Amino acid sequence: MENIINKAKLNNNLNKNEIVSLLTNNEINNYLFSNADEVRKKFVGDEVHLRALIEASNICKQNCLYCGLRRDNKLQERYKLSSEKIIDLAKNAKDLGYKTIVLQSGESNVYSLDEMLYIITNINKLDLALTLSIGEKTKEEYQEYKKAGANRYLLRIETTDKILYEKMNPEMSFENRLKCLQILKELNYEVGTGCLVGLPEQSIESLAEDILFFKSIDADMIGIGPFIPHENTPLKDIKDKENKNFELALKVMAITRLLLPDINIPATTAMETLNPNGRLIALQSGANVIMPNVTDNEYKKLYELYPGKICLNDNASKCRHCITNKIESINRKVSKSFGYRKKINF
Ligand code: SAH
Ligand code: SF4
Repeated sequence: MENIINKAKLNNNLNKNEIVSLLTNNEINNYLFSNADEVRKKFVGDEVHLRALIEASNICKQNCLYCGLRRDNKLQERYKLSSEKIIDLAKNAKDLGYKTIVLQSGESNVYSLDEMLYIITNINKLDLALTLSIGEKTKEEYQEYKKAGANRYLLRIETTDKILYEKMNPEMSFENRLKCLQILKELNYEVGTGCLVGLPEQSIESLAEDILFFKSIDADMIGIGPFIPHENTPLKDIKDKENKNFELALKVMAITRLLLPDINIPATTAMETLNPNGRLIALQSGANVIMPNVTDNEYKKLYELYPGKICLNDNASKCRHCITNKIESINRKVSKSFGYRKKINF
């Protein structure tokens, strides 16, 4: 088993069977995590890139079974931040030393194209890199956002198992998700994708396929999140029986680092929700990015993809200091650069 990890470290490649055997064998976990950590250090160094997350609106027209923001969750109070508010939050983030904004929302048309372009242009003027994470849009819209200054896009494939995908995302098509990722690539965005780990009926084989998919599209960023059931969704009774989603998500992340050594990989907030040290553990198992939330607390509480969200009562300035201390406590440092992927040609 250790040989498989050694080989992956050398060639940055594994086949599906090898990935499945790593995912199913837990005796090698520590060896896997420490090797992913070494690969991270060798290829992307000790700097941790911070991305300031703004949760612009929780209004969503989609009905993803796993998500608290789904359209049919009528118990969810909805909000939309104004353009000026978003630009103000971006200014505050800049003052706190952030170099990148991640603008995320439910999927909807509550921001008109003009409004989005206004927001993007103004964030761009602040000399900040901007990642959008606002769901599936048309090619023309992606093109306009890019022209206005958005340079990265996050759109998780969620799962590469098409049947599971379409069960989890009624009314959405797997092909369209793929098409969006392909368009984003063609438009020269830095493209982030990723998957959920622990969805009902999700097989280990399909997680292996997810990792191979990340490699095949040469993703620039990969976010892996453990699935956390939300009370007001159809998946509320899906229990993580042996608390295995955290560790399994960590393993998917570590193997992703072995196969895509030069990309950006966040230590996801959902990992920290399941484990009080989740992000630091992830940073020591292959991750090199953290996305602290800079949205006002009154809205943070309403952006409930899953329950148990962290830092709900801490303001942006406190989070910035807290995360810096944590990063330094493991002998890593906060990056002062924009943190684009520095692609290495093998
Ligand atoms: N609406 C956009 C962006 C917001 S959702 C989109 O769907 O792309 C951002 C991410 O939250 C999703 O990609 C999904 O992977 C994650 N998410 C949603 N519900 C979750 C849950 N219950 N547990 C863990 N992650 C969840
Ligand atoms: Fe909407 Fe995104 Fe949640 Fe799906 S995952 S319901 S698209 S916010």
